Amino acid sequence: MKKILNYINGEFKAPTNNEWIDNYNPSNGEVYSLIPNSSSDDIEEAYKAAAKAFPKWSNTTLEYRSKILSNIANLIEENLEEFALAEAIDNGKPLSLAKTIDIPRASSNFQFFAHAITQFSSEAHESVGLNAFNFTLRTPIGVVGCISPWNLPLYLFSWKIAPALAAGNTVVAKPSEVTPMTAYLLGKLCVKAGLPNGVLNIVHGLGHTTGQAIVEHEKIKAISFTGGTATGASIARTAAPMFKKLSLELGGKNPNLIFADCDYDKMLNVTLKSSFANQGQICLCGSRIFVERSIYYKFKTDFIVKTKALKVGYPIDPDTNIGALVSKPHLEKVKSYIDIAETEGGTVLCGGNYVTVEGYENGYYLEPTIIEVKDANCRLNQEEIFGPVVTIMPFDTDEEALALANGVKYGLSSTIWTNNLTRSMQLAKHLHAGIVWINTWLMRDLRTPFGGVKDSGVGREGGVEALRFFTEPKNICIKY
Ligand code: NDP
Repeated sequence: MKKILNYINGEFKAPTNNEWIDNYNPSNGEVYSLIPNSSSDDIEEAYKAAAKAFPKWSNTTLEYRSKILSNIANLIEENLEEFALAEAIDNGKPLSLAKTIDIPRASSNFQFFAHAITQFSSEAHESVGLNAFNFTLRTPIGVVGCISPWNLPLYLFSWKIAPALAAGNTVVAKPSEVTPMTAYLLGKLCVKAGLPNGVLNIVHGLGHTTGQAIVEHEKIKAISFTGGTATGASIARTAAPMFKKLSLELGGKNPNLIFADCDYDKMLNVTLKSSFANQGQICLCGSRIFVERSIYYKFKTDFIVKTKALKVGYPIDPDTNIGALVSKPHLEKVKSYIDIAETEGGTVLCGGNYVTVEGYENGYYLEPTIIEVKDANCRLNQEEIFGPVVTIMPFDTDEEALALANGVKYGLSSTIWTNNLTRSMQLAKHLHAGIVWINTWLMRDLRTPFGGVKDSGVGREGGVEALRFFTEPKNICIKY
């Protein structure tokens, strides 16, 4: 059985306790590799390697760091086929998606921060009338921790690691235990790219042990985490007494507000994607759909037809639209929400059942599901399901749409479909969200701030926000 290894100090190693965890292929339910069940000893070893590498790495020129990150980006691109296949097998997502989104974007993350660091600047303030001048010196933090989830494995892993390294930090990172493969492959590319030993250390294992050991390590002074809200809260509790810098990108229950004056066909096609792309396992999916009453019936009818036409199948098949969910426990969790639809006053309009894919009968497949809800406060509408399940309900006025959109504890992203500029701006301003898309969805520009409000997290990633997070600002005041 293939064994994934930790990448510490430039070497590939078994965990010190020699304990291993099964890694499942979601498309057929079989164990296909083993991953290290690393302990705090492995984290300590990784920390020591990172701490040793820090003085030299943080003193390299920007051009040098930029070149290495660019090498990593190019190598990911050159190995796109291998990485995309590995991601599809490990996660269950359609290979077509891994090829066009996950892996190209992971490469872009490294390429983007390779350039961004050469353009990063800090502030200067002249204290007029006092003959003094201030400037802000931004220095890397030291050894930082990066912890990422399973839904967009390499994409979100690289989204943290690239700015951390670009800014001159050294890193101890843990990918999700459920999808470790592309992070393992990335370690191999880092060696080829010329990344010095110890600068990036990738340790595999369970969240509550390996991940927790990173968060608990008193000398790892910053944690960048993407994952569930409950985990984020637990990380914040552990990190707060040690005054660690924290960036938390957490869950979402994003509203999709559809007005009668929108470009209907475009809206319908994009709404299908924002509902079910990656089996609905994207923190930015528009899982609560609110439709203006005058077009509600038409939308409902057309949306059901389009959803039923989506093909659930083996992720590697080119015509598969919906692959397997990431794990059996997750599949069961998502299904359990569908099962409470009736008691929560909802009606399953389509989908709702497990799917048996011929030849892959033990895979974790589920039909894309639309549930009509009457009460916006029902659990289906309030809790993050994180699967191919959306709720829909009508609204009558802009005020009602805004109240429905804001009526959850989350505040990650929102989508508005309207051709009325005034309405879109009024709503965009008042929506509780870190990101608002108007007449589009998931259009990303890596320079923009990325993150959420309320229970969707603290802090922002992307562009200069990420470089600011991974550096410590120091004010230097000169009297002349
Ligand atoms: P989890 O919170 O379960 O896990 C995220 C990562 O944290 C994993 O690597 C996990 O390891 C690790 N972890 C778990 N417990 C701890 C702990 N106590 N200390 C340190 N690390 C820990 O999230 P999922 O992997 O299930 O990801 C899905 C969630 O991520 C959804 O809620 C989704 O909304 C959110 N998400 C948010 C995004 C955003 O940008 N806001 C983007 C993408 C996803 P292990 O897997 O081994 O348990």
